[in-house]
Amino acid sequence: MSEKFVALKSYLDRYEALGMALSLISFDSDTYAPDGAYELTSKAASILGKEAFDILTSPEVKALCADLVKEELPFKEKRIVELTIKNLKKLESIPGEEYQERILLGKKAQRVWLEAKQKNDYTLFSPYLEKLIAMEKKFATYRCQGQQNLYDVLLDDYEPGMTEADYDRFFNEVKVGIVPLIKKIAKLDVKPAAFLTQSYDLEVQRQFNKALANYIGFDFNRGRMSETEHPYTTNLHSYDVRFTNHYYENQLDSAIFSTIHEGGHGIYEQQMADEVTMSCLSYVSSGLHESQSRFMENCIGRSTAFWQPLYPTLQAAFPDQLKDISLTTFIKAVNHVAPSLIRTEADELTYPLHIVIRYEIEKKIFSEDVDVNTLPQLWNDLYERYLGVRPPSDTLGILQDIHWADGMFGYFPTYALGSAIAAQIYCYLKEHAPLDTWLTSGNLQPLTNWLKENIHQYGCLKDTFAILKEAIGKDFDASVYVNYLKTKYEALYKIN
Ligand code: ZN
Repeated sequence: MSEKFVALKSYLDRYEALGMALSLISFDSDTYAPDGAYELTSKAASILGKEAFDILTSPEVKALCADLVKEELPFKEKRIVELTIKNLKKLESIPGEEYQERILLGKKAQRVWLEAKQKNDYTLFSPYLEKLIAMEKKFATYRCQGQQNLYDVLLDDYEPGMTEADYDRFFNEVKVGIVPLIKKIAKLDVKPAAFLTQSYDLEVQRQFNKALANYIGFDFNRGRMSETEHPYTTNLHSYDVRFTNHYYENQLDSAIFSTIHEGGHGIYEQQMADEVTMSCLSYVSSGLHESQSRFMENCIGRSTAFWQPLYPTLQAAFPDQLKDISLTTFIKAVNHVAPSLIRTEADELTYPLHIVIRYEIEKKIFSEDVDVNTLPQLWNDLYERYLGVRPPSDTLGILQDIHWADGMFGYFPTYALGSAIAAQIYCYLKEHAPLDTWLTSGNLQPLTNWLKENIHQYGCLKDTFAILKEAIGKDFDASVYVNYLKTKYEALYKIN
């Protein structure tokens, strides 16, 4: 190994170790730390974040990268150097103090957002949102290349290579394809199944969901499951992957599909090769990550084949509520389509419209001077336009998601992109692999092996769309997603 690469690696290892500590602090704050810890812990986190920033943007790292980029390196090392240059270029134009200030602002804003959401009081949160937008715009201005627009700078952070023009095309195709179908289904006026909202013992739910996570392939020797208000996944490396859940007594399917979704993220992390974990090679994009969770949750987890061997176990866990509910009725219930207010609870078909709404608001924020006080109205108007429902409160409207409170603008579109990638993987496996046999046999190992072999192991050794192309032999194609949704929901609702 080149001497200079060894030197670079020692800086990068320190950078990764700090990142790991920050993930752990964040997870601890969300799950276990006492409320009063927040101020001092946030301060410590911002200091560690600045330390990491200083390492990556140090003259030593820059000089090593500048030399190494000219050397003939093995593929993996070359990739690390390229990604390090990309990552440090993102940061080097930002003054260090402003970077640290931004970390603290994000931590504070998340606290205030939670309070504002609980109290349904947007005015508590809006001054923080205004500051976050101003800072993100300033950072994007520092970072943008030539004529690049500001929103494109942010979109590239979460899905490298994707631009506003790409997403415009993608969302237009999705809208044209699914809006008429949603309208047809709405006309049928099918009511949601009442059995899902009966009382389900929380302890039994916890046990079932732990077994479910294990069943889909989440390895508890390398992972943990705990509880938070909003389910999410984090990881220190591929040997310590943690996800959270939230159990509702009167909503059986909520925790089940969170387990399958977050489990999908978790399995992806656990199946990454040792050579890529805990390095800049461990993260390729939010779109690909989301494709793995949404593939498991929707394409696999809401299918009859998946539940065929598993449903009797669920019935046995809740005999009073489910003994007379057939598998067919259960599958229809968990695929119920209805325009709704909350993104995380939305069905698979209307879900992308929730993303379109956020995407349109973000585009506006980053292309003009927007008064943050007008955003709740804009949010509500867009819900009415796209989904025909108007949020009765900001808690059920603009305050529902944490992303903007963390300054994460440009992230939302990757949820829809991930869904589209998931559909392509699913359609490929239906055609070229015995997917239904894998699922009905009650052993998901062949499926998780396929995912490991073709997607998970690589981390960022390849880009998202290269991984997809090599896995399924085809380029990204939004029409596959639209056709998948049409075929599935026209059959479920007997529409032709
Ligand atoms: Zn997710």
